[in-house]
Amino acid sequence: MSATAADDYDVVILGGGSGGYACALRSAELGLRVALVEKGELGGTCLHRGCIPTKALLHAAEVADTAREGEKFGVMTTFEAVDMDRVKAYKTGVVSRLHKGLQGLVAAAKIEYVAAEGRLDGPGTVVAGDRRLSGRHVVLATGSYARTLPGLDIGGRIVTSDEALGLDELPARVVVLGGGVIGVEFASVFRSFGADVTVVEALPRLVAAEDEAASKQLEHAFRRRKIGVRTGVPFASATQADEVVTVTLESGDTIEADLLLVAVGRGPATEGLGYEEAGIAMDRGFVPTDERLHTNIEGVRAVGDIVPGLQLAHRGFAQGIFVAEDIAGLSPSVIDETTIPRVTYCDPEVASVGLTETQARDRYGEVATYEYNLGGNGKSQILGTQGFVKVVRRADGPVVGIHMVGARMGEQVGEAQLIVGWDAFPEDVAAFIHAHPTQNESLGEAHLALAGKPLHAHS
Ligand SMILES: Cc1cc2nc3c(=O)[nH]c(=O)nc-3n(C[C@H](O)[C@H](O)[C@H](O)COP(=O)(O)OP(=O)(O)OC[C@H]3O[C@@H](n4cnc5c(N)ncnc54)[C@H](O)[C@@H]3O)c2cc1C
Repeated sequence: MSATAADDYDVVILGGGSGGYACALRSAELGLRVALVEKGELGGTCLHRGCIPTKALLHAAEVADTAREGEKFGVMTTFEAVDMDRVKAYKTGVVSRLHKGLQGLVAAAKIEYVAAEGRLDGPGTVVAGDRRLSGRHVVLATGSYARTLPGLDIGGRIVTSDEALGLDELPARVVVLGGGVIGVEFASVFRSFGADVTVVEALPRLVAAEDEAASKQLEHAFRRRKIGVRTGVPFASATQADEVVTVTLESGDTIEADLLLVAVGRGPATEGLGYEEAGIAMDRGFVPTDERLHTNIEGVRAVGDIVPGLQLAHRGFAQGIFVAEDIAGLSPSVIDETTIPRVTYCDPEVASVGLTETQARDRYGEVATYEYNLGGNGKSQILGTQGFVKVVRRADGPVVGIHMVGARMGEQVGEAQLIVGWDAFPEDVAAFIHAHPTQNESLGEAHLALAGKPLHAHS
């Protein structure tokens, strides 16, 4: 194999997920010659096994709950059953339309799409199938995979999110191992679809990266939905027979189920890809970078889930765009990871941006907080959801964190992000009139209260 002129590029990107394809599209827009190497499907985890299919399932789950609860609103609906074939057809339809759209974008941008497994072969070269692609810049974007625990083999009734998305039949009893984002989203879906669900989490609370108040509210809501929550109890082992999987906890308790969903985090997909041989510094499989996403090797950058930090699609998009612009000489500002919004789409949703109260106290010492209860918000009452908006500000200073729980509250994270990102003071936000009756108003009310002029709230 020898490099030909046709195989020389400005940018060669290994991995066509959120980070990789965003980098490819922006690079092409900026007039760079781009090759994008993808061994599976363009769009990666987010489009095919992550964000999009799970959110389609969560929407189907919401429809099931709406059918079940119609009577509460005076509409006499009944819930009959969930037809998994049709749910899957709906989910697949959404994914396929987006996939087709993305393929069209990549083709229109004249990106050289190489459908093959690739490997880094020295700093400026990627070998993919029978091609040898050389790039002035190489971007590693190979993403992540579902982890399991030592001794816990995936197979049969023990699955990860990958298999859970393709289930043909609904399990009647599910144990979800891991109370992080992916675990609680699946727990929420399975419960809405009618299963008995128990979440097992070794840490003392669900969604442990969130503000403690959010974890508490979610746990309370899950218990009301009759989702079993076993926090602070490490998993010990699991055994499976034809009909059942038995989960044993370190406390000695056992739980029987039809399905064990292992949701204990995602590891970096970096093994056997030539990274170490090319001299890339690694940290437990991840690829550390500087703030401009350079690895330790000149000309090689990394984006997305392989870079330590939040494993979120929109972080991958932002990093991909950043790298393209930096390569093109636009000198973009470095990405501020603290203003990346986070949404967990279970019912109720958990959405946040910036620092938790504990992090803010550790960083700044004195802080002030206000927790506005959605009980005072007209639209949330209409929807029948409970939750809050919690605002954390530095003492007499700007807002540094916003934490929200409640049905549909994920949609409010955009304004929260602007407030934290622009270092707004509660007094600044209080001057903006929020539309009534919206859930968005709860953000306005929380800031009014923190600015010392509460309306539908206690000071
Ligand atoms: C169940 C689930 C739900 C999620 N929900 C959300 C959500 O709601 N919101 C959110 O922001 N994030 C969500 N995420 C996370 C999100 O999917 C990831 O953060 C995002 O996909 C990371 O993008 P990436 O480009 O780093 O990697 P990936 O999307 O994993 O893409 C990497 C790509 O590289 C390819 N590749 C790997 N090795 C090679 C090779 N050797 N040669 C060629 N190609 C290769 C892979 O096939 C893959 O397509 C979810 C994840 C999961 C699993």
